[in-house]
Amino acid sequence: MNIGETILHLLKKEITDIEYSRYIKQLNFSQKLSKEDNVYFIAPNPLIMSWVKNRYSDKIAHLFEIKTGIKPHVSIVLKEKTKTRSKAASKEKTVSEKNKHSLLNIAHTFENFVEGGSNEFAYVAAKNVSEKPGKIYNPLFIYGGVGLGKTHLMQAIGNVLQNRGQSVIYTSVEQFLNDFTRHLRNNSMERFKDKYRKCDLLLIDDVQFLSNKNSLQEEFFHTFEELKNDGKQIVITADKHPKKIAGLEDRLKSRFEHGLVADIQPPELETKINIIKKKCEINRVKLDNNVITYIATIIENNVREIEGILSKLHAYSELIHMDITIDFAKNVLKEQLQEKRDHITIDLILNLISKELNIKPSEIKSKSRSRNIVYARRIAIYLARELTPNTMPQLAQFFGMKDHTAISHTMRKIEELIKNDEEFRLKIEELKNKTTSSS
Ligand code: ADP
Ligand code: MG
Repeated sequence: MNIGETILHLLKKEITDIEYSRYIKQLNFSQKLSKEDNVYFIAPNPLIMSWVKNRYSDKIAHLFEIKTGIKPHVSIVLKEKTKTRSKAASKEKTVSEKNKHSLLNIAHTFENFVEGGSNEFAYVAAKNVSEKPGKIYNPLFIYGGVGLGKTHLMQAIGNVLQNRGQSVIYTSVEQFLNDFTRHLRNNSMERFKDKYRKCDLLLIDDVQFLSNKNSLQEEFFHTFEELKNDGKQIVITADKHPKKIAGLEDRLKSRFEHGLVADIQPPELETKINIIKKKCEINRVKLDNNVITYIATIIENNVREIEGILSKLHAYSELIHMDITIDFAKNVLKEQLQEKRDHITIDLILNLISKELNIKPSEIKSKSRSRNIVYARRIAIYLARELTPNTMPQLAQFFGMKDHTAISHTMRKIEELIKNDEEFRLKIEELKNKTTSSS
């Protein structure tokens, strides 16, 4: 068994037999394409490809990490693609050699991005940057909630420049950190610097995770300064405005604000509808307008959900040979909504709140009366009550409280706040969305 097969075998133990035979069994590991930090699996059709990408790539990466110590980027590609790829390989080689650090998704283009009021500003800014990199807005800082298209837009800039033969690096903070510690350990910081400071375009995703990582911030600051002085373009994303990222050095905040800060808001209904239409076109799924409108109204703010929903609808309709009518869609999605909730556990909520509010899970569960901790604990209880099937006595036990009255007291407090404080309401909405999309 090769490593890829071993990993799929391990994954089998974590999922249902149906999931395994429907999706995972259909994959082939490509030893030829895979490197230790970027592994390739080949899917027989676009559906399985996007389904596996959405549902399992994190799990697969995690299993690799357990087995090999390295958490790779997981690429799921189509069968035909790999064939044409090897034919064109010699031609592509110089470009891909040059860009071997960049892991851009080639589907993340401007053409595939749907513009609407909610993202227009960021879209136009990104488009401008791709036309005149390093010249107008440097850095470009894009921020907004989960699944609203930040990574897509930043990679669209990357794809434009990469197609022009420029060297592009796309990295997450996590990858940057891994690289940094690895080179530090191996005494090869010169190579690290070469890599990050000699590119034409640096895309760094989700910089809120730089929070409180001081030596990494220091290193990133110097990378930033050098690129900027050389007139190289930097594009950054985060889930919030630079000013609001806690635990970020002031000098970085001010650098981040210095170019252009563009936000992406949750899409309006019309934009959601247009995005669904676009995704149908890309994935060759045929849907009636009333089904499209229905999907647009049930998805919350996360565009990422759309792809999962389309794959699911399509897969089911193929399986039972039925067209996708509105009733069919309703039935399938009812299950999806329920399934989403089934995956949410109190621990998941605890960890999310801990990360978001920067308070240890053990503190949240403690009896501490300190203001921040009480605040985090109340939110965690509220979300657990709203999003998991746990009863009040069960929650009381989990959070070490006397009995269920303490829980109902907390619920009332939070509900009051939600009613009276718009900013708080939005915060809770955001956390709810994050919980459902991380489950
Ligand atoms: P973020 O980085 O903000 O969490 P992503 O860029 O990963 O979100 O987007 C999640 C998914 O939604 C991607 O598949 C992306 O292509 C899609 N998406 C988001 N916004 C749009 C849009 N306006 N048009 C087309 N696809 C979009
Ligand atoms: Mg992203």
